[in-house]
Amino acid sequence: MHNPHLCPCHSGKPYAECCGPYHKGTPPENALALMRSRYAAYALQLADYIIQTTHPTNPAYKSDHRAWKQELAQYRRDMEFTGLDILEFVDGKERATVTFRAHLKQGDLDASFTEKSLFFKENGRWYYASGEILNDT
Ligand SMILES: [Zn+2]
Repeated sequence: MHNPHLCPCHSGKPYAECCGPYHKGTPPENALALMRSRYAAYALQLADYIIQTTHPTNPAYKSDHRAWKQELAQYRRDMEFTGLDILEFVDGKERATVTFRAHLKQGDLDASFTEKSLFFKENGRWYYASGEILNDT
């Protein structure tokens, strides 16, 4: 479970064959791969990757990247990224949705949540456009 070579997106695959290449600049082939790689980027504290893959129209997008990075670092300090379940993936040409359950632990607290994320494709790259937290869990 704690093999350091396994990808932090919990795919069970080695990082170098999973989200590693995306973090190094290869565009994820679809929104699902982008979603997984963003979860892994949170776990690895790759703030630049989170920022680069967030669409500027996203309500979570902050033009002050420095403040945003500090916020991401703070978030990471408090969290353990314990699992990821993909519940639904609806692919499309320029628009896709991924519904997932992110398992997180904040100290002894379960901070897991279920989200339906919307992704846009622009100039050959997928971006996280918005997310809706689903409360029926
Ligand atoms: Zn991965």
